[in-house]
Amino acid sequence: MLGQMMTQPLLISSLINHADKYHGQTEIYSVETDGSVTETNWAEVAVNARRLASALTKLGLEPQARIGTMAWNNRRHLEIYFATSGAGFVCHTVNPRLFPEQLTYIINHAQDRVLFFDATFIPLVAALQEHLTEVQYFVLMEPRNEDAVAQIPGVQFYDELIETGDAGFEWPSFNENTASSLCYTSGTTGNPKGVLYSHRSTVLHSFGSNTRDVIGFSAMDVVMPVVPMFHVNAWGSPYACAMSGSRLVLPGPDLHGEALVKLIDTYGVTLALGVPTIWQGLLAYAAQSGTTLASLERTVIGGAACPPSMIETFRETYGVDTVHAWGMSEMSPLGTANQPLAKHLNLPVDKQHKLRESQGRPCYGVELKIVDDDGNDLPHDGETQGDLLVRGFWVLDSYFQMQDQELLQDGWFATGDVATLDPDGYMTIRDRSKDIIKSGGEWISSVELENIAVAHPKLATAAVVGVPHPKWDERPLLVAVKAEGEEPTVEEILAFYDGKIANWQVPDKVVFVDALPLNATGKVLKRNLRADFENALTG
Ligand code: ADP
Repeated sequence: MLGQMMTQPLLISSLINHADKYHGQTEIYSVETDGSVTETNWAEVAVNARRLASALTKLGLEPQARIGTMAWNNRRHLEIYFATSGAGFVCHTVNPRLFPEQLTYIINHAQDRVLFFDATFIPLVAALQEHLTEVQYFVLMEPRNEDAVAQIPGVQFYDELIETGDAGFEWPSFNENTASSLCYTSGTTGNPKGVLYSHRSTVLHSFGSNTRDVIGFSAMDVVMPVVPMFHVNAWGSPYACAMSGSRLVLPGPDLHGEALVKLIDTYGVTLALGVPTIWQGLLAYAAQSGTTLASLERTVIGGAACPPSMIETFRETYGVDTVHAWGMSEMSPLGTANQPLAKHLNLPVDKQHKLRESQGRPCYGVELKIVDDDGNDLPHDGETQGDLLVRGFWVLDSYFQMQDQELLQDGWFATGDVATLDPDGYMTIRDRSKDIIKSGGEWISSVELENIAVAHPKLATAAVVGVPHPKWDERPLLVAVKAEGEEPTVEEILAFYDGKIANWQVPDKVVFVDALPLNATGKVLKRNLRADFENALTG
């Protein structure tokens, strides 16, 4: 042997150990379920994580036992993240906004042994309890509360449970490929499927997101993950922020514009992450309140296409840089992030801005390609669109307990998205393949039509779906929500498309609705819109 470097397994416990040792006094502000704010820090989170890990270990759960959470973004949830994975269990974050039948299916399918939940979900857990056949311990994330005891027989309390644990607990060492956490996709088709992350994939994903041209969380940042900790682990931000020792603001249950603006202004948030629907509310309130969002430097927006008009408002009105990112549960979730290249600095400013609108480039650790219907590679010319395939260090190989299904195509995972890639690797998502509008053999991107519509000042939000048409098979229908106090006409909305896209792509019709149907992660349920407006062009 010529000599060798150390081999240490990439374990999630190393992240919390690092934050404890080198960023212990760094502040974490947590909005609790009752709206009060607790100030804690990485050292206290680490102590509680060790005590909880010890307490869970004493329960005698089997290695890799699944431990469910139904909780908002708060400090106890953060402690559970590190305690469960660090001790060799699997942290299974459950999206509480799903239907009760889906929740029962997911919790039973995952075989959760313990279920931690916030006070908000006491009635929900009480209703589900008898159906959750695998759960042995129900733990309310609060001090003792007699009301809960009356509603949920046998319930335990987080603050009492950690008292039974040992603060000097030593994190066990094991294979880095051991499962660490589990998230189910929202299951817009069929039953939800579980994506099982490993310690290795999670630590590598944290390194990836921490590079400067991706997100690059910093010890100088005050980070507010608005994206829920039950939505792909808040995009991995709890892990990546432990790695970088960032300050954190955990916003709790209230994600309305007013609450978020107040948190940004009170705690000096520099970097916030979330889906576009969240920022719509925030920007609406910010405009009303007259705040300048003075501390905010960057937003990371993804989960659904971020309209260019939103990027522009952040930049022009608030001086905030938006990093438009794309990913999915199956990718932990980070796939691409839009950051500029050095050569762009020579371009005119409006061209530079235009280049920041797409979903961006793959980070190191992720590869992308586009293929046609027969699986042949398509050119990366920025024009040709095809099915998007991915592979990488933190990309799914098989779904939880579905290993027998051959999922990959020659080692690549098919995302279900349709995209273009340009020679520099900048990707533009044209649509989800099931949402793209097929009009007389031509494809129309619903995302492109939506981006134009939401830039209209008299619209609050909008979605475009393909609906049956006697001649063209499908034509685009714009379903729009009026901005408060505005009365736009159909004609003026359609005229807004003039000169922005080819005439044949302009929606055939506009219907106004009070609100768009959203799924549990804040994305528009286009399936519902297609069903509701099935006869809009034929009836
Ligand atoms: P689901 O919504 O199916 O539960 P995810 O939350 O993992 O799953 O969503 C992944 C999907 O969301 C992607 O495949 C893509 O269609 C869409 N998506 C995510 N980010 C973006 C983005 N920046 N632009 C457009 N679409 C996006």
